[in-house]
Amino acid sequence: MKIKDLEFKKFIPADKIEKRIASLAKQINKDYADRTPLFLPVLNGSFMFTSDLLKDIELLCRVSFVKISSYAGTNSTGQFKTLIGHDESLFGLDILIVEDIVDTGLTLQKIMEDLKDRGAKSVEAIALFRKKDAREKSIEVKYVGFELEDEFILGYGLDYDGLGRNYRDVYKTLTSTQ
Ligand code: 5GP
Repeated sequence: MKIKDLEFKKFIPADKIEKRIASLAKQINKDYADRTPLFLPVLNGSFMFTSDLLKDIELLCRVSFVKISSYAGTNSTGQFKTLIGHDESLFGLDILIVEDIVDTGLTLQKIMEDLKDRGAKSVEAIALFRKKDAREKSIEVKYVGFELEDEFILGYGLDYDGLGRNYRDVYKTLTSTQ
């Protein structure tokens, strides 16, 4: 499949994603059994993941979408813009940030710091994908769906230059060795 200048091939099929999400949800249901967490999905990339994950969450919980813009094309710029979308007080809440993918981990680190400063009782992260860089830097992500190397992926909410978010499967870029 070609999108703009890049060739992509199928990487993780929808049924595998679905199964992995069900098992993440099971773990979260267990860990938060006595709490009423606030799920804070980071738009845009996490919309599909959030929708599927929350259908498997059996807890009494809140959901509030936030947005941030720090990324363009296939390389992280490392820039951070303000977290927008949550006006209500976060004081004393158990927050679960829902991210599509953690690459350098810069975005997640800043969000976590911001939420702790606002008086959240606990802040943990759920990411469907985590890349090598974040793993090596020991960026704390309590719940990870799939560990990746350095590949650029798209589909299942993730885009390339705004395109491809709608695919139910995940694709990765072809490199010269593939
Ligand atoms: P970080 O701050 O961890 O470097 O970047 C996280 C954000 O970069 C993600 O929320 C996502 O928007 C974007 N990103 C990082 N890696 C990829 C990738 O492989 N594919 C896509 N589509 N976006 C990515």
